[in-house]
Amino acid sequence: MDLVFATHNTNKLKEVGLMLPKAIRLISLEDLGCRQEIPETGTSLEANAQLKADYITKHYGISCFADDTGLIIDALNGAPGVYSARYAGEEKDSEKNIEKVLTKLRNGASREARFKTVIALNLKNKRLLFDGIVEGTITNEKRGKNGFGYDPIFIPTGYDQTFAQLPGHIKNEIGHRGKALQKLIKYLAKN
Ligand code: IMP
Repeated sequence: MDLVFATHNTNKLKEVGLMLPKAIRLISLEDLGCRQEIPETGTSLEANAQLKADYITKHYGISCFADDTGLIIDALNGAPGVYSARYAGEEKDSEKNIEKVLTKLRNGASREARFKTVIALNLKNKRLLFDGIVEGTITNEKRGKNGFGYDPIFIPTGYDQTFAQLPGHIKNEIGHRGKALQKLIKYLAKN
């Protein structure tokens, strides 16, 4: 089965490509010839994931899925949440986003946080949502070089290294995107 993953993020494409069974051939937006930035104007992860999937279905009439992820920090009332990409400005700079989080948590606030991914699947006229959550804590400084985004400051519960220090296969097994993707794969196997 051919399935478009509606993302321009090459890190996500790589992560998801490693997790999907061989029976599913992942098509990227570059493969489709889609170079536009898909608008993410929703106020929830669910709305943004659906907006991205619907954009591809509308313009290309093809089965696809899209994801939206947020880092939810308790002491920041759930921020950066749905605004994780642009937390420190429109340039979507991960280094600046991380700096902003660490600065805001400097007052000794609780460091409890979670990553949440929502995947929207548009398949055969059906629209479905799958989610995945991983609980953890925010570090005092960046650690590690793997992964992307906020990975260097997030330690998943039960580990003492950040997602950027842990091997990629561990992030895929216990992480937010992996969990949501497992639900998607289960659904695809049955439908
Ligand atoms: P989006 O899902 O591409 O909109 O991502 C929103 C923000 O969260 C961006 O700043 C990403 O870099 C970050 N992000 C998305 N997925 C992950 C992840 O798996 N680890 C760390 N940061 C992520």
